[in-house]
Amino acid sequence: MADHPPAPRHVLLNREAADRFVQTARVAVPNEACGLVVGWWDDDVLTVERFVATRNRAAGPDEDGGSGQFEIDPQMHLQLQRMLRGSGRSIVGCAHSHLSGPAEPSAVDRANAGEPRFLWLIVSLGDKDLKAWWHESEGRFSPLAIRWMHASDKADALSDGVPASADAAGSDETGGAA
Ligand SMILES: [Zn+2]
Repeated sequence: MADHPPAPRHVLLNREAADRFVQTARVAVPNEACGLVVGWWDDDVLTVERFVATRNRAAGPDEDGGSGQFEIDPQMHLQLQRMLRGSGRSIVGCAHSHLSGPAEPSAVDRANAGEPRFLWLIVSLGDKDLKAWWHESEGRFSPLAIRWMHASDKADALSDGVPASADAAGSDETGGAA
């Protein structure tokens, strides 16, 4: 991965990607859903353009509310990486769901966290909450603020940091995404 700051200032999230992730999580019940997120860095802002659902190799009921397991299929990870070559985008993080636990890394998540300097999106279906976390390394996470890519998504709450032209920055291949 190219040079980028140690941690993003915030995450610029495409509403469509977030919706797709939450929808995938709902469909996966009673298992946790997981997937990869695709995006790019702009200085110290990490933009998430797309959520790509992957098979959960550790699928099983989330019996203790949030410490269920997920394991992204490494084959799908490699495949996606290959597909993105030369596109100006890369796999910048992962996403998974908690059925009832909070939208934060569980003890199991921390113990199993792999790739350092990786974005984690976690949705809690029970809490109806979506949060972004930065995995520094070895199970150490810090919370990240989420902003929406298109000003119209959350114009009232997030009008400060989201330029009106945000969607022109990188959606050359996704025309009509808004
Ligand atoms: Zn988890």
